[in-house]
Amino acid sequence: MPVSGHGPYDDTNIFARILRNEIPSRRVYEDEWAIAFHDITPLAPTHVLVIPRGRYVAMADFVATAPDAEIAGFFRAVGAVAKQLGLEQPGYRVLANMGAHAGQEVPHLHVHLFGGARLGPMLVLA
Ligand code: AMP
Repeated sequence: MPVSGHGPYDDTNIFARILRNEIPSRRVYEDEWAIAFHDITPLAPTHVLVIPRGRYVAMADFVATAPDAEIAGFFRAVGAVAKQLGLEQPGYRVLANMGAHAGQEVPHLHVHLFGGARLGPMLVLA
């Protein structure tokens, strides 16, 4: 069920629970600003989610309210995860869904990292 992408932030969302280690995830990376783990329903050979540790619903509130250091730290983490997974040379795709038209399902900002194969057209409208 798509979410609006706007607040208030819900501390019971599934990624908040993964951050608190209340439910398991296959973590591949963590630092001061972000964690990354495998998507439970992968859409590519590599499909990893990178999420900020901070309480942000989506891109809109993140870029509007997060301190500069947190924004920089988060996006550096996205790049670090891709590099760590060996995706830089063959290439990869970064995607973030915001709100209903994008079909955002989990109301905690996350970036999808796809790789491991040619990824086809950038977008296919349903
Ligand atoms: P979005 O549609 O951008 O909100 O993407 C949410 C993503 O979270 C989907 O690709 C789901 O497969 C993924 N997902 C949902 N629950 C979990 C979970 N417990 N662990 C890992 N990924 C999950």
